[in-house]
Amino acid sequence: MVDFKKSIAVLKRKYGEPELPPARGPFELVLWENACYLLSDERRAEVFEGLRAQVGLDAKALLKAPRETLFALAKLGGMRPETRVFRWREIARITVSQFAGDLDRILNEPYEKAKKALKQFPCIGDPGAEKILLLCGVGPGLPLESNGLRVLTRLGFGRTQKSYGGTYRSVQDALQGQLPGDNADRVRAHLLLRQHGKKFCRNNSPLCGSCAIASLCAYPMKRAGRA
Ligand code: SF4
Repeated sequence: MVDFKKSIAVLKRKYGEPELPPARGPFELVLWENACYLLSDERRAEVFEGLRAQVGLDAKALLKAPRETLFALAKLGGMRPETRVFRWREIARITVSQFAGDLDRILNEPYEKAKKALKQFPCIGDPGAEKILLLCGVGPGLPLESNGLRVLTRLGFGRTQKSYGGTYRSVQDALQGQLPGDNADRVRAHLLLRQHGKKFCRNNSPLCGSCAIASLCAYPMKRAGRA
């Protein structure tokens, strides 16, 4: 059995303390997720900070913002800017109409209810809602995005299944009993696994030869066996 905490400790030594996204609270984190499409974190931050400076990170301000201002920022965020503008306005509309402009109030709700509330927003599914709640200090588990999921699967947690959802559940089952109780430790693990998946444990051609956790990982041997 791979030691989860040891793997994360090695990644922490390699990368240092990971940087948190600049978004704070559920409303900003939903906007952060919708800031751009298939672009770098740097570009995501540029769009997000543009919204902060030119519009304000507030649902009512977003609803009042001129379309041209939103469209210019949405263009920075990649393909289909008109869809992005629609989504930003939808995020603001839902926040105002259902949460009186204050999405923070979901943090006082039971976990499943808070998750359900977040899943009403564009591009937020189960893992996205769980990640937002984790970053807000709420929730018990370790939500994973695709990079983190790939690293853990290759390390030996769970099994790759035909569907992404099946693999996700398999990894979550394998993590049972190994996760740290402290929220800050789980946030750190989420961010470090993502970073490692993007830099070394890439989907195609992972850099196993220079990977900090290669000695803990089952994948290089498996790959050699297949060659
Ligand atoms: S050894 Fe290779 S497969 Fe395993 S975590 Fe490192 S990069 Fe990923």
